[in-house]
Amino acid sequence: MKTYFGIVPEPGKRYYAQIPVGTLANRAEVKIPFLLVRGMEDGPVFWINGAVHGAELNGSVAAWELFRELDPKTLKGTLAITPIANALGFQRRDKISDLDCQDMDTSFPGNPNGTFTERISHAIYTQIKANADSVLSFHTMGPQWTAIPYTVSKIVPGADPEVIKKSQQLALAYGQEANCFLDLANASGELPGVTRGALDITCILDGIPTFMAEMGGGGRVQRENVDLAKASVRKVMAYMGMLTDQEPPAPMRRRIITRRTFTRGDGAGMYVPSVKPGDTMTGGGVQGRIHYFGDEMEECRLEQENIFFIGVRFNPVVNTGDPLSFVGTEWHFETC
Ligand SMILES: [Zn+2]
Repeated sequence: MKTYFGIVPEPGKRYYAQIPVGTLANRAEVKIPFLLVRGMEDGPVFWINGAVHGAELNGSVAAWELFRELDPKTLKGTLAITPIANALGFQRRDKISDLDCQDMDTSFPGNPNGTFTERISHAIYTQIKANADSVLSFHTMGPQWTAIPYTVSKIVPGADPEVIKKSQQLALAYGQEANCFLDLANASGELPGVTRGALDITCILDGIPTFMAEMGGGGRVQRENVDLAKASVRKVMAYMGMLTDQEPPAPMRRRIITRRTFTRGDGAGMYVPSVKPGDTMTGGGVQGRIHYFGDEMEECRLEQENIFFIGVRFNPVVNTGDPLSFVGTEWHFETC
């Protein structure tokens, strides 16, 4: 018998809960929302985690709306959702918590005796590990960014190759043109810092197929990305045989990105991009210009032979070394 935060779900029922995860100095209790719907028939347990970075909200809203729209009569298995994992980052509209300055997506599997963030991670992860057959971790780029929607699945050293393959298949079932298949053994130019402790990596090492969906930009709710995320999750659930009223997704042309990086500028001031997400550039070129209200516009050139723009800075204010674009530099096309 499966239990989720103490809930033993019955077939055909929907559950809303607020899970206490800690207390602030002023004795205000911090809670994370939890949603669960169990279908009339048995099947896989699919877990959606949203806002592991507190400002990344499109997937959270999509998961909540989908949860309300799903008919338990046409559902096989269980959909479990933690839409706002990072309650501390969420309340300050930020990626991370200011209580412990920790990035929750480096803190899994968490620690029941650790920091506030680690305790929330532990509360969530113990439930995922005990129950989930597969996991989707929703992200967006930061509030300063505009970006195409895409998926990420990671080739994690030491993980079961079968689990890595299943993670990639789930990511493809999500139905986006752009998909990053990242080999962590040779990933370079990724986000600075550690990749250890990411939810997807932790799940994959524990044998649970997991992928990330990046749905546009943070700090706002983008209706087109919410609707796209809902339709895409339905495709994944159909692929897993969880939706009896929907066909599994058909093969389509994919861009499989195997290397990516942030591009950074030397200059400072106001950045004016000359590219947009989804553009490609070959043989190098100008991604944008920086000015500081003078006579000069500094060109921000890229030297890489092949560039696919995943995300472009939206907020123009840049300091030396700030990222200007997030780009794929190696990719191939496949129909799958
Ligand atoms: Zn994120």
